[in-house]
Amino acid sequence: TTILVSGANGFLATWIIDILLKRGYTVRAAVRTEAKGQHLMNQFKSYEERGKIELITVGDIVSETAFDIAVKNVDGIIHTASPVHLGGGEPNEMIVPAVSGTLGILKSAMKYGNAVKRIIITSSCAAVKESVIRPNLDENDWNELSILECERKGKNAHPLDMYSASKTIAEKRAWQFVEEHRSEIKWDLVVITPPWIFGPPLHEVTSPETLNSSNMYWYKAVFEENYFGQNPETDPMHGWIDIRDAAEAHARALETAAAGGERIIVCAGSPYVWQDLRDASKGIQPKVHSVGTIFNTAKEHRILGLEYRSMKVMTDDILAYVAKRGWQ
Ligand code: NDP
Repeated sequence: TTILVSGANGFLATWIIDILLKRGYTVRAAVRTEAKGQHLMNQFKSYEERGKIELITVGDIVSETAFDIAVKNVDGIIHTASPVHLGGGEPNEMIVPAVSGTLGILKSAMKYGNAVKRIIITSSCAAVKESVIRPNLDENDWNELSILECERKGKNAHPLDMYSASKTIAEKRAWQFVEEHRSEIKWDLVVITPPWIFGPPLHEVTSPETLNSSNMYWYKAVFEENYFGQNPETDPMHGWIDIRDAAEAHARALETAAAGGERIIVCAGSPYVWQDLRDASKGIQPKVHSVGTIFNTAKEHRILGLEYRSMKVMTDDILAYVAKRGWQ
């Protein structure tokens, strides 16, 4: 069984690939350029030698035909590629690649994905939760507010709204695409929406400055007391999840028949505040919060049955990673 994984050199995808290879899948790893795939291929060299992983370059996912060749003869697709940062100068910097990448891979799969049975897209809790606090959110909730904020404020919109709008619009368009092309497609869609993902990276990181965005925020909060203008004690963030559990969710989404056609929230804990991560790094038990968003994971438990790592395990493993590199 061969699975195409997009954004293969990224934080999440590298862990997904690790899980898939260990379970015997063959992986086609899609990256922007050959150079972007170097570290990945070195890391999984023993699998490459056995023909279990191959690299494919797809260029910028803004191009609608980027995945036309990549989708041929694969049994499933896991689409993680999307811009992930809070430095968007204007909304379309985030929205255009997110939407084109998602619609592009679906279109390519429809036209050329001769063997595709299932497509899994990584959306985000940012596509579920609006900035206003609501106590109990589930898969029926959508972050409409960030889209409105971007429409209203353009380049003055908050970067978090730009990212959130990119994830919300991309996911909405994906479901719409499946609805409109139901009679032409032979695969089903699963969408996984994780909250903030933290954990020890497997992908190429050469310094704290080159950490992927979410781990960078973790690093700054824990070691530099930089909370991006937020109050670390009282401003509730949405949820968190260990990278290995987020990756496992994607593998289970591939393997669980009942996941077909479902949007699934995966979340180890919600809400949290930045101080919780600092506390966990000092071995202090994080507090229980009464204010903030709680993501309902009943559907995930019913369909995927994940057992989430604790904040302590996640934190200890990142600290070990950081210590091994002598960064702190
Ligand atoms: P990374 O930044 O580590 O990985 C993103 C990947 O997408 C990279 O491989 C990147 O390639 C690729 N990509 C982005 N834009 C383009 C483009 N225009 N053309 C080609 N490739 C592109 O992020 P994560 O692994 O953390 O995120 C993966 C997915 O998970 C994303 O969809 C994200 O929205 C979602 N997610 C992440 C969360 C988190 O906390 N990390 C939380 C919830 C959801 P390149 O290196 O070449 O830029």
